[in-house]
Amino acid sequence: MPHGNVIRGARVGSAPVRPDERHHPAPRQDVTYWCRNNHRTSIRIAADAAAPPQWDCPRCGLPAGQDAQNPPGRTRAEPFKSHLAYVKERRTAEEGEALLAEALAALRRRRGES
Ligand SMILES: [Zn+2]
Repeated sequence: MPHGNVIRGARVGSAPVRPDERHHPAPRQDVTYWCRNNHRTSIRIAADAAAPPQWDCPRCGLPAGQDAQNPPGRTRAEPFKSHLAYVKERRTAEEGEALLAEALAALRRRRGES
């Protein structure tokens, strides 16, 4: 037989690498949000990350907050908004940005960047 070195396929029976063996588990925290329609949503984020002040409800799309008794009002598809409503909305967004920037900065410090 002239062709003795036949290229063989992948080894049969080689076990696939399991995802949970490739990643080191990081500490997590569960953050729960409630929307105005009383939908409860839990997200899982890094334990040392700041939770976003609001989270869009995956069921109805309304913004959900962490206070079950006082969910955020509709901030979308609302025909009229007072100046105060706009200010509140902007401030919340800025606070969110600040929290996010803080968390990212902490993350970079831990990784040794900057
Ligand atoms: Zn909802």
